[in-house]
Amino acid sequence: MAARSLLLIRGGRVVNDDSSLEADVLVEDGVVRAVGRHVLPPGDAPAGLRVLDAAGKLVLPGGIDTHTHMQFPFMGSRSVDDFHLGTKAALAGGTTMIMDFAIPHKGHSLIEAFDTWRSWADPKVCCDYSLHVAVTWWSDQVKEEMKILTQDKGVNSFKMFMAYKDVYMVRDVELYEAFSRCKEIGAIAQVHAENGDLIAEGAKKMLALGITGPEGHELCRPEAVEAEATLRAITIASAVNCPLYVVHVMSKSAAKVVADARRDGTGYACGRNTKDGDLGKGHSGDLTTTGSDNCTFNSCQKALGKDDFTKIPNGVNGVEDRMSIIWEKGVHSGKMDENRFVAVTSTNAAKIFNLYPRKGRIAVGSDADIVIWDPKATRTISAKTHHQAVNFNIFEGMVCHGVPLVTISRGKVVYEAGVFSVSAGDGKFIPRKPFAEYIYKRIKQRDQITSIESSDSPSLGKLSSIRTSENLDVHEVKSEKRMLLFPSQLNAVSPWRSKPYFNSLRSF
Ligand SMILES: [Zn+2]
Repeated sequence: MAARSLLLIRGGRVVNDDSSLEADVLVEDGVVRAVGRHVLPPGDAPAGLRVLDAAGKLVLPGGIDTHTHMQFPFMGSRSVDDFHLGTKAALAGGTTMIMDFAIPHKGHSLIEAFDTWRSWADPKVCCDYSLHVAVTWWSDQVKEEMKILTQDKGVNSFKMFMAYKDVYMVRDVELYEAFSRCKEIGAIAQVHAENGDLIAEGAKKMLALGITGPEGHELCRPEAVEAEATLRAITIASAVNCPLYVVHVMSKSAAKVVADARRDGTGYACGRNTKDGDLGKGHSGDLTTTGSDNCTFNSCQKALGKDDFTKIPNGVNGVEDRMSIIWEKGVHSGKMDENRFVAVTSTNAAKIFNLYPRKGRIAVGSDADIVIWDPKATRTISAKTHHQAVNFNIFEGMVCHGVPLVTISRGKVVYEAGVFSVSAGDGKFIPRKPFAEYIYKRIKQRDQITSIESSDSPSLGKLSSIRTSENLDVHEVKSEKRMLLFPSQLNAVSPWRSKPYFNSLRSF
C-alpha cells in the first residue's frame, strides 16, 4: 500500500470567495482534511508529513481558467501551447484547472471531436481539465450527441459561434435549437457573440480598399457587431429560458448589454477584462469569471497573414498570467478585495460549471488545488521568462503584484520557487454533471412559476395565460404584449484577444 501523503500548510491566511481566516490547512491524499488551528494533534509529526510555511502569505483555491485552446488546429495553423506546456504554464501562474474546447467542423460528429481532444490532452496535461464542446451545425445527430456527451462523457457546456462565417458560425434558428437542447439536458449554452455576416462583409470592404494589415481586423469589427450579437443571443436564450454564458465581452457596449440584462432580472452575471486588464470603473462588479482565451501562435505563424489580415491566426497568450493580471488590475488597484479575486478566478467558474465545492474552495473534502500567493511580491512579465511555448507575450514588461509561490494540484506540490515537479499526464479529466444547481435552481423556479398557455377568444383574438405555480393567479394578456419573464445567465470574459494582431505586429 502506498504511504499516505500528508501536507500541512501552516500560518497562512486562507481566502475563499466569502471569507478569509488565519488557519492551517491539512491535506491528505490529495484532499483537504482540515482547516483551522491545531489541525494536527500535539506530539511528533506523523511520518511522511511535509510542512509548507505560509506565514504572511495568502492560501487561495487554485485558479480555474474557463477558456483555453491548447494545440488548437485553426486557420491553417495549430496553437503552439500544447496540453503539456500550456498546462505547465498554467500551474506556474497559480491555475490548477483549465477548460478547453473540443470543436468539430461542420457536418462532423461532436463525440468524435470530444474523443480526439481527449486523446490529445490525457497523455499530456499537467493540471486538471475539462472540455466544453462546440455546436457548429445542427441536425438530429447533433441533438442526440449533445445528450450522450452530457449523460456519459462529463460535458455540461456547449459553445456556439455567431462569427467565423462558413467555418463555425450558426444561424439564429440553430442557436434556438441548441439553446433549447441545452436546457432539456441541463447544460449551459455559451456563445461567441459577434455578427459574423457583418464581419465578413467588413473584411471584404477593407481588402477592397487596400487595407491588408492587422488594423483591418479591428476596422471590420466596430463595437456594434459585438453588442448586437450579444443582445441577440440574450434574446434567444430568454425565449427558451436557457442559461447563457457570453464567453468574451470585449467592448463597453456589449458589457452594457449584458449588465442591463442582468439588472432587468434577465441575467445575473457578466464582466469584461480587456487585454491590458482594464477592469473599468463600475465594471469589476459585473465580472463573474475570467478565462484567458489562451490560443497562442508564434510570430512566424502570425506572418501567414502579413499580406492579408484575414489570414492571421487569431489568438494570444494569457493562461500563465491571468491570475497576476487580475490581482494587479483588480485587487492591487483597489477595485476588488481578495475574496472577490477568488470568486472571479476560481469559485464562480466552479459553481457555474458544476465543479463546486470539489474545486473552487478550500474546505474539508475539497480537492487540494491550492496556491500560496504572495500579495506583496512583484514580477515582471516577459516572454524571456514565461513558461509558455509562444515566442512573445502580449503583457511584455508589465509589472504585477501578486506572485504564486507554490502551486499544489490535488495535494501534490507541482510548482515551487520556479521549479516544477510534475509530469505529462499527471492532470486528470474532470467530468461535470448536468443541471448545475447554481444556475438551474433559478431556471427551474422560473419555469415553475411561469407557464404560458394560448387560447383563442372571439372578441379579443389570441390570448396567452401566464400562470403561477399555485394556479391561483391567472393573468390574461394579449399575446403580442406579453412579457417574457425568462432569465438568461450571463457571464463573461476573456478578452485578451481584443487587439491580438496589433500585439503581434511588432514581431513580424
Ligand atoms: Zn476562444
